[in-house]
Amino acid sequence: MGRIAGILNRLEGLYPEAATTLAHKDAFELLVAVMLSAQTTDESVNRVTPALFRDFPTVEAFCDAPLAEIEKRIRSIGLYRNKARHIKETARILSTRFGGNVPADQKDLESLPGVGRKTANVVLSVWFKEHRIAVDTHVARVAKRLRLADWEDSALIVEKRLMAAFPEESWSTLHHRMIHFGRYRCTARRPECDACILKEFCRYPDIRP
Ligand code: SF4
Repeated sequence: MGRIAGILNRLEGLYPEAATTLAHKDAFELLVAVMLSAQTTDESVNRVTPALFRDFPTVEAFCDAPLAEIEKRIRSIGLYRNKARHIKETARILSTRFGGNVPADQKDLESLPGVGRKTANVVLSVWFKEHRIAVDTHVARVAKRLRLADWEDSALIVEKRLMAAFPEESWSTLHHRMIHFGRYRCTARRPECDACILKEFCRYPDIRP
C-alpha cells in the first residue's frame, strides 16, 4: 500500500466517524459557529451557541439584535467584539443580498465580513456537501509533518497540495480526520509519536527538538 492510501486508511480506521463537532441546525448556524471558532475550541463555541441561537433564531433576529446583546452572549469566546460585529454585519448582508440564505458559492461566502477561505470551505463541505479541504492550524501541521506539504507553505498551498495528493471524494472526510488527529494526537507541542499509527510516513520524530 502506498503512503497516500496508507494515510487515508489509517486515519479512517482511527476516526470512522468524520464530522464537524460544531453544533448547528442549519447553514446560518453553521456559518456563525465556524466564525466563532476562529482561535478557540469547538467546545467553547458549543457552550455559547445554544443560548445565542435560542435568543436570535433567525438571520433577521441577528439583524435586529443590538450589538451589545450579541456580545453579551459570546463574551467567553476570544475576539468576541470583532466576531459579534462580523456576525451582525453578515446577517445584514445575507438579508439584503442573498434573501436571508447562506450562499453556496465560495466567492459570495468570502465576501462576508470575517469569512475567509477556511470558513467558506467548511460551510461548503459540511452543509453543501462539496468536496473541500479546509486548512486550519491542525491540518497544516499534520500535513507538514507527514511530508504532504513543505514547512514554509501557506494554508492555500497546503490545501492545493492535499487536493493534488488525495482523491477528491476523500477530501471532506480527510479534513475532519486530520483536524481530530492534530487536535488530540499530533499536537503542536507534545505529539504522541511513540504510539503513532502514521509514524512511518512522518519526518517529525527525526527532527523534533
Ligand atoms: S509521528 Fe508524531 S509528529 Fe508524526 S504524525 Fe505521528 S504524532 Fe504527528
